[in-house]
Amino acid sequence: MAGARAVIVGASGRMGRALVRAACEIPALRIVGAVASADSMSIGRDVGVLAGMEPLGLEVTSDLPAALAGADVALDFSQPQATRANIAACRAARKPLLIGTTGFAAEVAEAELDAAAHDIPLLIAPNTSLGVALLMDLVRRAARALPAEFDIEILEAHHRMKRDAPSGTALALARAAGEGRGQAAPEPPAGSSASRAGPRRQGEIGFAVVRGGDIVGDHTVLFAGPGEEVRLSHRASDRAIFARGALRAALWLQGRPPGRYGMSDIVEADHVLG
Ligand code: NAD
Repeated sequence: MAGARAVIVGASGRMGRALVRAACEIPALRIVGAVASADSMSIGRDVGVLAGMEPLGLEVTSDLPAALAGADVALDFSQPQATRANIAACRAARKPLLIGTTGFAAEVAEAELDAAAHDIPLLIAPNTSLGVALLMDLVRRAARALPAEFDIEILEAHHRMKRDAPSGTALALARAAGEGRGQAAPEPPAGSSASRAGPRRQGEIGFAVVRGGDIVGDHTVLFAGPGEEVRLSHRASDRAIFARGALRAALWLQGRPPGRYGMSDIVEADHVLG
């Protein structure tokens, strides 16, 4: 696996700090840029210290184009409002980009993502855990195998600070279930949580959302049939799993031809799972 110099956008956040810590375990990867929002209290601070480690001699900046100059790949774990600018900067610098930020569908159209992927390798990963990548595949297969009388519901729980709902992972699981059933991607429910009144619509894929405490991320896909149910679940107890998966995916992404990629491409790559 070739080495890579990486820029982390959102370096001062929960995921950014987990990425900085995890990067220390991967000799092939070096963090050369740490970006946060211009109004962040972390601007000018050492990114290693922010992550609870020894100083790394790298200050947090808000200048992504400058940070990209000496980098091979960028990882975006910031906020949806920043996604368009992050894509534009990576496109201008012709640098591969992994977008781990979730909830940007209202900010950036699919066509814009496709256009960017003409110029750069673009990996969109609402969940960078390898376990969740496997769950996606299992859900697709279960939805294909089980008859239509099994209702599908996506249950998810996250910490109290999470901004988007349902989670990007819950939406991706619903898409995977829809693909398995051969039906169009379900519409995400409006509002910050999903609640229902009245009976289910035929073929509906529903969502149930819990927000509280410091839950890192729980997802269950429930197939509820007459007299039996199947549940496929993943529980994250440590943000480090997302960080490790993201860094390994970033290593995989650099040097790829321009195009759209997903975590399923990484799971299929033996050298990453091995
Ligand atoms: P956070 O609020 O703790 O941190 C956000 C970071 O983004 C901060 O460093 C902030 O300064 C930076 N930021 C905000 N606006 C910016 C801008 N305009 N330009 C540059 N930087 C900006 O958030 P978090 O909990 O670390 O989550 C970050 C994102 O990652 C969220 O969208 C979350 O849903 C997503 N996430 C993805 C995965 C995954 O596996 N893909 C896992 C966990 C979280």
